[in-house]
Amino acid sequence: MSHDTPPSTGTESTRHRHFIHDEIDADLAAGKHQGRVRTRFPPEPNGYLHLGHAKAICVDFGLAAEYGGQCNLRFDDTNPSKEEQEYVDAIQDDVRWLGFEWDGLFYASDFFEELYGYGEHLIRTGHAYVCDLTPDEVAAYRGRLDAPGRESPYRQRSPAESLDLFRRMRAGEFQDGARTLRAKIDMSSPNPNLRDPVLYRILRAHHHRTGDAWCIYPMYDFAHGQCDALEGITHSICTLEFEIHRPLYEWFLDHLPVPHRPRQIEFARLNVTYTVLSKRKLLELVKTQVVEGWDDPRMPTLRGMRRRGYTAAALRAFCDQIGVARFNSTVDKLVLENAVRDDLNKSAARALAVLRPLKVVIENYPADGLEWIDAVNNPEDPASGTRRLPFGRELWIEHDDYKDDAPKGWFRLSPGKEVRLRYAYCITCKEVRRDASGAPIELVCTYDPQSAHGKTSDGRKVKGIIHWVAASHAIEAPVRLYDHLFAAEFPEDVAEGVDWKANLNPKSLEVVAGAKLEPALRDARPGQHFQFERVGYFVADTRDSRPGAPVFNRTVTLKDTWAKLEKRA
Ligand code: ATP
Ligand code: MG
Repeated sequence: MSHDTPPSTGTESTRHRHFIHDEIDADLAAGKHQGRVRTRFPPEPNGYLHLGHAKAICVDFGLAAEYGGQCNLRFDDTNPSKEEQEYVDAIQDDVRWLGFEWDGLFYASDFFEELYGYGEHLIRTGHAYVCDLTPDEVAAYRGRLDAPGRESPYRQRSPAESLDLFRRMRAGEFQDGARTLRAKIDMSSPNPNLRDPVLYRILRAHHHRTGDAWCIYPMYDFAHGQCDALEGITHSICTLEFEIHRPLYEWFLDHLPVPHRPRQIEFARLNVTYTVLSKRKLLELVKTQVVEGWDDPRMPTLRGMRRRGYTAAALRAFCDQIGVARFNSTVDKLVLENAVRDDLNKSAARALAVLRPLKVVIENYPADGLEWIDAVNNPEDPASGTRRLPFGRELWIEHDDYKDDAPKGWFRLSPGKEVRLRYAYCITCKEVRRDASGAPIELVCTYDPQSAHGKTSDGRKVKGIIHWVAASHAIEAPVRLYDHLFAAEFPEDVAEGVDWKANLNPKSLEVVAGAKLEPALRDARPGQHFQFERVGYFVADTRDSRPGAPVFNRTVTLKDTWAKLEKRA
C-alpha cells in the first residue's frame, strides 16, 4: 500500500535547474572532459548520514543522472581515530534507501600508496618539506587572519633530507606528532590554507580498512582533490565552507602529475529550523542519551527520519524543492513536513484510530448488532482496495471531538448536536455521563438508521464528520507522538557559555497508552505507513513492533484546522 523505497533513477530529485547546471553546461560547451560528467558523494565514515547529506546526495547523484554520467560513493577515510566500519555499512544502506546506486565504490584509503607517492613528488620538486615543529608550534607559526605567519625553521631543508625523513616517518621511526610533511607555499598568504599546510601527520591508529599498515595519514585537503583526480571526477561538488580551500585544491592539481583535472564547485549547506545538522552534535545527543540512538525517530538522520516514517520519495522531493544556491539560509521545517504529507497523502493507507478515547453508547442500536462496513483504503490510490470496519452499539470517539459548551463554528459533538461518523451513520448526543469530578466519561447518543452513505432520513445536512472505532473489536497499541527535538527555531544560536542542548524540547516525545485502533491495524507491517484519519500520519515502528503487536510512531500531523481557528480567535 505504501512504498518504502520507490524505484528511482534519481532524475526526479533535481528537476529544478540551478547554477551548477550552468557551470557544467559551460564546461561541456567548452569541450572539457570529452563531454562526460562524473561526480562523487564523499562522506567521512565517522557518523550516520543526516538530512544535510541527503541534499548533497541528491545533488551529486542527481546531476550525474541528468547528464547521463556517473556518480561514485567515496569514503573519505583519512582520519582513522574517528572512523568505523559500522558507519561505512550504514552509509551504503542509507544511500540506497534514499533511492540511489553508485557507479564506483571507493575509499580514500584505496589511494594511500598513490598519495604517498604524491608526497614524495612534492618533496623532490621542492614543493614540500618535513617539518619538526610540534602541532602547537605549527599553529602558532601559522599566524592570525590579519597577520602573516612565520616560516618554519625547517622550511629550507634539502629535498634529499626531507625525502629521507618522510620515508622514515612512514617506516615508523618517529613518535606520533613528532614531524609532519608540509607543502611549501606562502606563509604570508591572506588565505590561511596556503600557509604551508600540513600534508601528512604521524598517527598510530588502527584504520578500519588498512589496519596497521600505515602510521602516517594524509590530511583531508591533500587526499580529497587527488582522489577526485584519480577517480576521474569532473565536478567535485561540496559545501561553501570549502570555498576557501579551493586555491589549495587547485595548487595541488597544478603541482602534481595527476591523470585528470577535476573542478570544485561549492553550494550552501542545508540548515533546517528546530534541527541541528552536524554529525558531531548528533553524536553528542546519542552519547549523552538525550535520544535512544542514531535511529531515534526525532533525529534528523536518514535512519531516524526513516523510522519516523519519512519516505525516501518525500526527502528527494524536498531536496528538489529547496533548490541549490550559493548563499547560506535556513529552511523552515514546515517545508520538510509538507513534502512528507504530500507523499504520504498519495501512498499511505487510511485507518481509524482514537488516541484519547471517550465512550459512545448508541441507545437505539441493537445491543448485539454488528455490521461490517466497506471502507476504501486510500481514496488517492484506486489500486489500494477496501477493508471492512466493524460497527456496533458501543464506540470510541476522540475526547477532543466533544465539548460541553460548543463554541461558534464547532461542528463536532456537544449536547444535542449531531455529527456523522466517518463511513457510517449520523449520531446525536442525548446525555452525558460523568465521573465524580464532572468530566465526561460516556456519551449516550441516538443514531439515524437511514443515514448511511452520506444521506439522512429527512435530507437535513450534517456538517461535521468524526472518526471512531467499534469498542467490541478495538485493539490497543502504544502510539508515540513526536514533536521537534528542539524547542528553539535556531537551536545553535546560544549566548556564550550556554550549551546548545539547553534548547532541547522537553516534550519531544509523548507515549499515548490507551489508544483504540481499528482491528486491521493489528497486522500492520513494520515500516507500513498509515494516515490515521483526522489525526495524522503514522508508521508501524520497525524496531519495537512485534507480529500482532504493532507500535506506532507519529510521522507528522495533519494540518489541524480547528487549532488554527482557535489560534486566530
Ligand atoms: P558534518 O558537519 O555533519 O560532520 P560533514 O560535511 O563533515 O558534515 P561529510 O561526511 O564530510 O560531513 O560530508 C559528506 C558530504 O556531504 C560533503 O560533500 C558535505 O559537503 C556534504 N554535506 C554535509 N552536511 C551538509 C549539509 N548540511 N548540507 C549540504 N551538504 C552537506
Ligand atoms: Mg567533514
